[in-house]
Amino acid sequence: MMRPLADTVPLEQGSLDGESHSSDSPDVNDSVGSANGGKVDLGRIERAVREILVAVGEDPEREGLLDTPARVARLYAELFSGLRENPRRHLKKFFTEKYDEMVLVRNISFNSTCEHHLLPFMGCAHIGYLPDGKVAGLSKLARVVEVVSRRPQVQERMTEQIANLLEQELNAKGVAVVVEATHTCMTIRGIRKPGSLCVTSAMKGLFRSNLSTRSEIMQLIYGERR
Ligand code: ZN
Repeated sequence: MMRPLADTVPLEQGSLDGESHSSDSPDVNDSVGSANGGKVDLGRIERAVREILVAVGEDPEREGLLDTPARVARLYAELFSGLRENPRRHLKKFFTEKYDEMVLVRNISFNSTCEHHLLPFMGCAHIGYLPDGKVAGLSKLARVVEVVSRRPQVQERMTEQIANLLEQELNAKGVAVVVEATHTCMTIRGIRKPGSLCVTSAMKGLFRSNLSTRSEIMQLIYGERR
């Protein structure tokens, strides 16, 4: 899971056409609503949580645990609310601007849930893009992160999905998404390495094909922290 940044940023300089970038992009999950009609089945979660409590040797009838299944059910409904929302809608509204320099929003904080352990991972996302006539409201970028993060997933896919959404909806000349997060499945269990940070990046268009453009955005993201 711990991948150094250098490994996730493709370094091929040959493809300067800037057109071939969308072909390898997996589709962003557009499906809103799930098998049960889009509603979280709270009762089902409650029953499952009760089962877990019994399975680990607890007594779900003891006072402190009586409301726990219902509480956990509401918690999961909140943590996974992004499954019933389409992040794309936040990018449907954009401004037509002649601005064609980089736009970067740094340190968009988020909480998400690792799909392998159902444990939280949290951190921040940095989103940069090179507009080509379409500029999104800055808060909309944060909204996209918010919706996408409220799903069970892995950080790599989350990073890729945000980049694909921006590339598709804004038709940007380049998109750069860097996500840094601490995974509690690495800090409180298993290998137990507190302080470890997982960094993933997705580079599209000019940020992928043009080394100096990519250096510029990485400098903007990390510059003063070095
Ligand atoms: Zn995990």
